Amino acid sequence: MTGWSLMIHGGAGQLHRDTLSPEQSAGARAGLDASLDAGAAILGEGGTALDAVEAAVRVLEDDPHFNAGRGAVLGYEGAVSLDAAIMDGRDRSGGAVAGVATTRNPVSLARAVMAATPHVLLSGAGADQFAREQGVPQAGADWFATPERLRQHAELRARGDGWFDAEMKYGTVGAVACDAAGNVAAATSTGGVMGKRWGRIGDTPVLGAGTYADNRACAVSATGSGEYFIRACVAHEIAARLRLGGASLGSAIADTLADVRALGGTGGVIVATPAGAAEWAFITPGMFRARTDASGHREVAIFGDE
Ligand code: ASP
Repeated sequence: MTGWSLMIHGGAGQLHRDTLSPEQSAGARAGLDASLDAGAAILGEGGTALDAVEAAVRVLEDDPHFNAGRGAVLGYEGAVSLDAAIMDGRDRSGGAVAGVATTRNPVSLARAVMAATPHVLLSGAGADQFAREQGVPQAGADWFATPERLRQHAELRARGDGWFDAEMKYGTVGAVACDAAGNVAAATSTGGVMGKRWGRIGDTPVLGAGTYADNRACAVSATGSGEYFIRACVAHEIAARLRLGGASLGSAIADTLADVRALGGTGGVIVATPAGAAEWAFITPGMFRARTDASGHREVAIFGDE
């Protein structure tokens, strides 16, 4: 038996005290708090890491302050296209969805893919159809698209340049946990990047890139420039450095993020181990993040200097 631990993120990026309004930052902190509460309630009662990460991510998906579920960024055509993944470190079972548009909580659909199909990754209209068949709650475009996202989308289209929003404030959400039995799990959910097109899919639903869990090493959830996280296989790379390379947790994370940076990417990760250790790290000015554990310690932070 170990003490349980829970760590969550709400995205990394250009987060500065002078660009984030006090309302935005207070709203995000309240959302992170609520997410921790949801996950901690499960872990504190002896529940599984898998249930805890799903519950923690669902709260952030429903919170418009983050780029996942309600409040997800809009693609070039003005619609949401949501990606999510969940993975269980006990047996490395995993489920993921990419490009879903009508499922209210993509992380729960990812869990249904894991639990009720022989598949790992479903995409697009087929994934939403599977959600309806499974009774996974659906939502209309007006649930997902908040006024702020509509404004950002109009601004991006008016500029008319670039592949997608170069500012990359991110806002993807994720959770990693270790339960009292020493099992780890990870979950991540995102709307991707503002203005994305052509069915672009990032690292979030790619097991080993944005999400990974293996009891022999750790659970990882990432946020950042997804193309680079896919190329560097970030989540699996951290696990491999621990399991095969004998690295310390801190150096496994730092060396992997240094590799992302060397490729030209940026972002952050949260990592939990079966021994109950948990660490976050980011190579951006800030990352929405929070943690708690069996000792009652609780921390919620956004900027790099807190
Ligand atoms: N990693 C996500 C993606 O590339 C974006 C993010 O972390 O906000 O889709």
